Parts: sequence; structure tokens; C-alpha cells
Amino acid sequence: MDSIISQIKNSHRIVVISHTNPDGDAIGSLIATGLSLKALNKKTTLYNESPIPAVYRFLPKVHQVVRKLDKTDYDLAIVLDCSNLERIGTAVSVVNRIPLIVNIDHHITNTHFGHIQLIDTSACATSEIVYWLIKKMNIPLDKFIATAIYTGILTDTGSFRFSNTNKAAFAICREMLDLGVDPYDISQHVYGTYSLGRIKLLNLALDSIEISNNGKVSIMTLTKDMFVETHTQPEDGDGLINYAKRIQDIKVAALIQEHHNGNGPSEDHSMYHVSLRSDGSVDVATIASTFGGGGHSSAAGFNIESTLSEIKTIILNLANTM
Ligand code: AMP
Ligand code: MN
Ligand code: MN
Repeated sequence: MDSIISQIKNSHRIVVISHTNPDGDAIGSLIATGLSLKALNKKTTLYNESPIPAVYRFLPKVHQVVRKLDKTDYDLAIVLDCSNLERIGTAVSVVNRIPLIVNIDHHITNTHFGHIQLIDTSACATSEIVYWLIKKMNIPLDKFIATAIYTGILTDTGSFRFSNTNKAAFAICREMLDLGVDPYDISQHVYGTYSLGRIKLLNLALDSIEISNNGKVSIMTLTKDMFVETHTQPEDGDGLINYAKRIQDIKVAALIQEHHNGNGPSEDHSMYHVSLRSDGSVDVATIASTFGGGGHSSAAGFNIESTLSEIKTIILNLANTM
């Protein structure tokens, strides 16, 4: 952490980046880091390739996050919540030309990319690591930074329910409340106000659930057609996998989500994102890694170009090993 702090202090133009299709931790850690660097009077750009999901647009200074990297004269890139550099999307080539890349993350599959790494797989969220960094730098926390950190921890722990929930999650969030964070207000934004389309998508998603013969694996499917029918976006699929995971005796739940812009060489071939969740008895990070993805032992994902039936066969075959 000390070398990162001295590099930050010596840098003048910093770009902070998190993964595409951002979740609450990717955006929360991005904003908390950005606001802290601005407090140090650093010229700071906040970048994310994807649009900010509607449920996170209430976050302070969220409009400062840009989707294009015009300037290339950065002397430091801070990459957040990414297990590999490709997770940032198309900016990889620009970022690879920046003289110093700092990798701050909590994924067990982190590839240790970049020049300096701050990886803590016991942290509940990248927002937790950013909190420790801000503290170590003696940057005063304000309500804006606190709101971003709180949202990152709240969402990555599934509201303090997932297995990554640790003591720090509660201690830090309590401190964020002291700084003026209103937990009801945040949960209303993040979980309490869904579009009608999102609820209708939930209906289609629940209807799509299939269970392996031995009852240990569940599969939920979200196709492009379902998004079109309900006028929804990929972000509206966030969290739906938890319904498939909750089913009694299920060890691994998979959500197969067809990419909006993905059309493969033939009609039924397409790009899919597969999310995996486990009850703790199966390491899904290892499974995702074999398909070029990554994540945590009980929550991971990968991208695959294939047909829906082929992907389902792969996942159902996993059930035979359980
Ligand atoms: P998701 O698949 O979006 O439900 O993500 C579950 C976890 O796996 C998150 O911590 C992601 O950061 C991680 N993850 C998802 N997809 C990938 C991927 N293609 N490569 C590496 N990590 C991933
Ligand atoms: Mn994330
Ligand atoms: Mn995270």
C-alpha cells in the first residue's frame, strides 16, 4: 500500500477505471477513489466503458464518469475491481501505454496484471480496500465518498448476506452512517424502485429455470428476445441469478445471458455471459477460469460464443461431478 501511496503522490494526471457492465462495487469504488484523488488536487479522470445502470445514477458525482478516453498523457492508471485487465473493455490498448498501472481488487482469480498490485481476497468488496487506502492517506471522508463506499459494500455483499460479508463490512458501513449516509435512501435507489419491464423480465427469468436430473444445478436463461419483449437492458438482469441459487438443494446456479450486441457466425450461435453462483461447496471461480473468466469461489462468470443448447449441456455435465 505504501508504494501505491507514494506513486499517487508523485502523479499529476490519473485515470481511474473499473470493469464493463459495472456493478455497485465497480461504480462505488470508482467514485470513492476519484473523489479522494480530487481532494488531493490531482487531475483525475473517471472512466467506465459501459453506461451507468439506472439504479446507480443517484450516486454523487456519477455524471463525472466518462465513456471515452480522449487524453493519453496519464502518468498513472488505477484499475479497480478487475481480475484481469481485459475486464475494462476496449481501453486496454490505451491503458497499456500508461507508464504505471495499479491493480486494486478482491477477486481470487486476479492475474496480478499491472506494475503494482493491492489485492485482498478477504476484502468483501474493492470498495473496502479503497476505504483502507483513503484512511492510510489521511484523506478526510465526506458524505459523498461515504455514500459510494457504502453502496459498493452493500451491493457486493448482497446486503450483508453473501459469504464475503465480513466484520469490516459492518464496521465501515457503520462509520459511513456517522458521515451522513442514509441506508434507507440508498436501498430504495438500489433495490426499491424497479421499472415495470424489470419485473416482467423477472417473470420470464423465473419461467426459464431448469434443474439438472440430480437436483443440484439450476439454469436460468435470459435471451435477447426477452429483453426486447420487456423493453429492458442487460443491467436489469442483475441479481436474478439469486432466485435460481435459492432453490432447495441447489449447489450451483447458472445464469446464461445472451449479449445484446452479440451475433455469431450462424443464426443460433451467439455471445453469452454465464454467471455462476455456488452454495460454498463448489469452487465456481475455478470452473469460470477454465472458460477464460474468473471471480470468487462462490460467485464467478465467463463469456462464451456458442449455442444455448451447447452451453446448457456443458453446465448440466457439471452436475454429474457433484
Ligand atoms: P457475474 O458473472 O457478473 O455475476 O459476476 C460474478 C463475479 O465474477 C464478479 O465478481 C465478476 O467480477 C466476476 N466475473 C464475471 N465475469 C468475468 C469474466 N469474464 N472474467 C473475470 N471475472 C468475471
Ligand atoms: Mn464487480
Ligand atoms: Mn467487487
